[in-house]
Amino acid sequence: MPVLLTLLAALIASGVCAYHRTSLRTWAIATIVATLVVGLLAHAPWTMAILLIVELAIALPLLLVDFRRKQISLPLLKLFAKVTPKLSETEQTALEAGTVGFEGELFSGKPDWHELLKQPKPELSVEEQAFMDGPVEELCSMIDDWQITHELADLPPNVWEFIKKNRFFGMIIPKQYGGLQFSALAHSAVLQKLNSMSATVASTVAVPNSLGPAELLLHYGSDEQKNHYLPRLAVGEEIPCFALTGPYAGSDATSIPDVGIVCRQVVNGVETLGLRLTFDKRYITLAPVATVVGLAFRMFDPDHLLGDKEDLGITLALLPRSTPGLEIGRRHFPLNIPFQNGPVRGKDVFAPLSVLIGGPDMAGHGWRMLVECLSVGRAISLPSNATGGMRASALATGAYARMRKQFGLAVARFEGVEEALARIGGLTYATAALSRATAAAVDRGEKPAVPSAIAKYHATEWARQIAADTMDVHGGKAVQLGPKNYAGRGWSSVPIAITVEGANIMTRSLMIFGQGAIRCHPYVLKEMQALSIADRGEQLKVFDRLLFGHIGFGISNAVRSLAMGLSGASIGETAGDAYTRRYYRKLDRYSAALALCADVFMGVLGGKLKFKEKLSARLGDVLSYLYIASAMLKQYEDNGRPESDRPFLAWGFHQCMWLIQNALDGAIRNFPVRPVAWLLRALVFPLGRREVPPSDRLGRRVAALLTAPNEALDRLTDWVYTTPTPNNTIGRMKALLPDVIAAEPVDRKFGKALKSGQFTSHDYLGQLAEAQQAGVISEAEADLLRRVREGVFEFISVDDFDTDELRAFKTRADAA
Ligand SMILES: Cc1cc2nc3c(=O)[nH]c(=O)nc-3n(C[C@H](O)[C@H](O)[C@H](O)COP(=O)(O)OP(=O)(O)OC[C@H]3O[C@@H](n4cnc5c(N)ncnc54)[C@H](O)[C@@H]3O)c2cc1C
Repeated sequence: MPVLLTLLAALIASGVCAYHRTSLRTWAIATIVATLVVGLLAHAPWTMAILLIVELAIALPLLLVDFRRKQISLPLLKLFAKVTPKLSETEQTALEAGTVGFEGELFSGKPDWHELLKQPKPELSVEEQAFMDGPVEELCSMIDDWQITHELADLPPNVWEFIKKNRFFGMIIPKQYGGLQFSALAHSAVLQKLNSMSATVASTVAVPNSLGPAELLLHYGSDEQKNHYLPRLAVGEEIPCFALTGPYAGSDATSIPDVGIVCRQVVNGVETLGLRLTFDKRYITLAPVATVVGLAFRMFDPDHLLGDKEDLGITLALLPRSTPGLEIGRRHFPLNIPFQNGPVRGKDVFAPLSVLIGGPDMAGHGWRMLVECLSVGRAISLPSNATGGMRASALATGAYARMRKQFGLAVARFEGVEEALARIGGLTYATAALSRATAAAVDRGEKPAVPSAIAKYHATEWARQIAADTMDVHGGKAVQLGPKNYAGRGWSSVPIAITVEGANIMTRSLMIFGQGAIRCHPYVLKEMQALSIADRGEQLKVFDRLLFGHIGFGISNAVRSLAMGLSGASIGETAGDAYTRRYYRKLDRYSAALALCADVFMGVLGGKLKFKEKLSARLGDVLSYLYIASAMLKQYEDNGRPESDRPFLAWGFHQCMWLIQNALDGAIRNFPVRPVAWLLRALVFPLGRREVPPSDRLGRRVAALLTAPNEALDRLTDWVYTTPTPNNTIGRMKALLPDVIAAEPVDRKFGKALKSGQFTSHDYLGQLAEAQQAGVISEAEADLLRRVREGVFEFISVDDFDTDELRAFKTRADAA
């Protein structure tokens, strides 16, 4: 017993120090003192002596810094230099572009919640709100999505004009150039509202405000280029597109075979230095209507007209549509969502050097320019469009499920439908929080490389889930296309968002953890950078400090993960109030588990981890769900901790924890070095896997919030276009819902009388009249039932067509 007590005292002292991340010196003192005191009190002199020798043998070499550097750090530095994979230029550029925000805390194993909670609540300015209430409302009232998607395969001229005139294409352009200079939040709000009406309109507006000519010019353009293009882009006098992708370069965009050869050519009698461009691009959004084409190509100078270098690398240019030889105008047809999209080609097209963005000095810097700007657009466009669609789906599906009756009940009452409604509510809440968090990060001046990948992937994946649930709950109503169908086009559009701006499989498998691990980790990138310090003495000093910091960090994460796993994350100082504290504790636990696994995976697999995409993807999932759960908590705090939001928050949060557990379990289960996996399992899941998905009861509460007007639903569906204009079925459904609910008890009364067989009429209106006459229901109640029946009939109705009406295109035979 005395032996055990002494051992335990040393272990507890070490564990507490590791848990709280004390310095090495504090650890040594605390452990030695604990061993001495308990050893003496418990009368265990031999155990105490042996333990003290071990403790001193560990502590002394580590505390003698010179000795430690030469004998431990130096050999490890040499080994590290040998095993560290050399980063390609592309990877180096990707890692250097962008900033690290709160996601860095999630990788720390001990997130500082104050950092998150002190961030100001993101809000629209008065001017931005006025734009939402004015031009955005008006634009929504003009949209007829069936006309756009089926009849015209384009926006009608008045919508194009309105968009241009009201500077929807200039949201990111500063006011000095005539743009709106909106915050990222406002930009996101506009897209969300537009997408609640039409994916085609939202995509059309999103593209010029995302990565493309305006963004690139703002950062790298010469003054002349800015002054020429930005004011025209702001008012839609110029329509931009950006052409990177081609038949041979999709996800691997750096492999573009398109070239620009520096040459001289006589133009209008004057010898001009320029480029001979040959390119074949496809999938380019807005290309068919573009007046200026942003082009990425590889630039070569074989005759050394600019300098010594022959292969200058990826370079960006802006080609006016009038450039002779530029082939543009034909269209692709992306899944019946007919925003303008098509190929751009050219063979030996001559353009002067002035077309280079930023001029000849920026030649060869194209990839860096793209990657540096990519995160901002990616954080806004697709996550916002996805969120807008999900919010609209939540509103429409909740209302529809309450209005649509089968087996004598609103379909929302069936548990199977309730399950789908709960997913719609919970995932919409989570996605809205995620999209808001990345917009807020951009507004703080961050270039959120990792969060933008998280947001792009999860917002679009969850939009796919919600689109499927929306279709299922609506049944045939959503399958039959036509003006009355508000769900089918949203469902068709989802794969587009999944594919663009980094196709989702690659985003998950390669980018989220691949970049997150190196960027957000407090030591890894710094250790890699230490390898390039030229001064050997300085290099060893820096590496030594990082190495021992890193070892302490790893030990601390192992202890924290184990301790919080054993306590079920129920103890420890953290943020939040009586309701949310347990949530923050869970995040603390899984943050430590992620940091531990990331270190072990990288340490054991080294550069091979890059090719173990299934492992990397799962660790990326853990980081993603930690980020999303934090974003939900921040949203809840910013909204003043509304009690009515709790079912959404709880559903989203438990879903994230369940998914984190599955991801960690999958990663450990498939880790190839089995003894390491066993150890990790003991540290991460000491009491087994105890997270469970959101309960059925919780799901019922979420579904209930979607099927009746309430303030939580209003917040969830903020920025959906709800004005009950003739073109807006969802808005009109929302307007009718209170009547539908008020009619339910009357309908029950009426139904009971109907069952008793006291009426002779066989049609609904006749039966109503009889019920009123018999005093079963009042006149006002009969009117209500009539009004609701008529209103609901419109919403459950679908369209039908003559064959000729459906023949939107000439057949090949006709065309010939
Ligand atoms: C409607 C639409 C609009 C677009 N607009 C533009 C535009 O305006 N400008 C522009 O330049 N481009 C545009 N694109 C191109 C878009 O960015 C590419 O489609 C995208 O980058 C993927 O390329 P790909 O379609 O050739 O797929 P591929 O590269 O062929 O990929 C096929 C699959 O393999 C996966 N994959 C590839 N590499 C990896 C890897 N290393 N690890 C794991 N999985 C991997 C991908 O995730 C994908 O699932 C658009 C595309 C579409 C469909």
